[in-house]
Amino acid sequence: KRRHQPTAQELISGILEGNRTALSRAITLIESTNPEHAEKANEIIKGCLLHANKSLRIGITGVPGVGKSTFIEAFGTHLTQLGKKVAVLAVDPSSSISHGSILGDKTRMEELVKNENAFIRPSASGETLGGVARKTRESIILCEAAGFDTIIIETVGVGQSETAVHSMVDFFLLLKISGAGDELQGIKRGIMEMADAIVINKADGDNIKKANQAKIEFNRALHLFPPKKSNWQPKVTTCSSITKEGIMDVWNSILDYFETTQETGFFQEKRNEQNQFWMMETINEQLKQNFYSQPEIIALLEQNKKAVQNNETSPFAAASELLKLYFKQSR
Ligand code: GDP
Repeated sequence: KRRHQPTAQELISGILEGNRTALSRAITLIESTNPEHAEKANEIIKGCLLHANKSLRIGITGVPGVGKSTFIEAFGTHLTQLGKKVAVLAVDPSSSISHGSILGDKTRMEELVKNENAFIRPSASGETLGGVARKTRESIILCEAAGFDTIIIETVGVGQSETAVHSMVDFFLLLKISGAGDELQGIKRGIMEMADAIVINKADGDNIKKANQAKIEFNRALHLFPPKKSNWQPKVTTCSSITKEGIMDVWNSILDYFETTQETGFFQEKRNEQNQFWMMETINEQLKQNFYSQPEIIALLEQNKKAVQNNETSPFAAASELLKLYFKQSR
C-alpha cells in the first residue's frame, strides 16, 4: 500500500511548525530527480522563502581526518546549549561518483543526531557538484523556514566543493591540524583566501605546542594576503573538539564577524550577490543538463567525438553543429 503523500501545502505547514519529518520529506523532494517531485519541491521552496533568510550560515571545510564531524558535534552542541537551533548539511559530490562518501557513512555526530534542537542531513547525491550544491542551497531555505537559526554546511576540501560552499555561506571556516614541518605546505592558496577563520583542531595533550606554532605560521601567512572585501581580518585560533577548549572562542569570533558586517552592510550585500550567483548557476546547470539529455544530441555527440578524433572535422565545427541542432530543436 502506498503511504499517504503529503501535499506541498501540508509540507509547508509542517515545516513552518518546525516539524522535522516534514522538513526531511521536503528535502527528499528537492533531491529527487523525478520532475513531478521537482515541481512540488519548487512550490514548497516558494512557500518557505518568506520565512527563510533569518539565520547565520557557516561553511566548514577541511581534509578527511582533520576532525570535522567531531568539531561540528562539539560546536553544534555548544550552540544548542546557548538556545540555538542548528542544522547541519553537507556538500560531498564524491558520494555520488564513488558511491562511498568521503564525509563518511559511519555514524557521525552521534550526540548531535539525538539532540532535538539539531537537524543533520547527509549530502545530496547527484552527478555534478553544481547539482549537489544547488540542492543544498535550496535545503538551506527549508531549514531556515523550519526555525533553524544556525546552518552549518560541511564539505571536504576536494575539487571545487569548497568554492561552492563558500558561495552559499556568510562565514567560511577552515579546519586544520598541525603537522610536522611546514604548516602551509599543500594548502591551496584559494582556500586560505576564502577563509574567515582558520581553526587548528586537536590542540590537546602533546599537540598543544605544535598547534600554537601552527597558529603563528598561519597568522603570518594570512597577513600577506590583501585585505578582504569585508574588511574582516581572518583570525587563527586553536581548539580541541575533545576537551572543548577553544570551541566557544570560535563562536564568539563568528558573532563578532556577524555584528561587524551587519553594521557595514557587507553581510546583506554578500547575500544579495550570492542569490544572483545561484540564479545564474541554476540556469547554466539546467541548460547543460537539458542539452546533454536530448537523444538526438547524445547520438550526434558520439558521432562528432569520433569525427574529431579522426581529424574529419575540427572541434569547433563539431561543437557548432551540435549547438545548431540543439537551438533548432528548442525553438
Ligand atoms: P573528519 O573526517 O574531518 O570528519 O574527522 P573526524 O571528526 O572523523 O575525526 C578524525 C579523528 O580525529 C577521530 O579519530 C577523532 O576522534 C579525532 N579527533 C577529532 N577531533 C579531535 C581533537 O580535537 N583532538 C583529538 N585528540 N582528536 C580529535
